Amino acid sequence: MPVMSSEDFAIHTDKCVAAEEGMPISSLPDEVTSIKDLECECWDKFESLDEI
Ligand SMILES: [Zn+2]
Repeated sequence: MPVMSSEDFAIHTDKCVAAEEGMPISSLPDEVTSIKDLECECWDKFESLDEI
């Protein structure tokens, strides 16, 4: 499940250290249209949004 950081509202995987203080979200925001919109390197292991 994606996690939104409460610090800067960036989206992370639930495995990311930056997500420890974050809030789980059930779906990605509409403005996220590709994996490249998720800037943290914790998404590098995903090839596309379909895998999330
Ligand atoms: Zn991250």
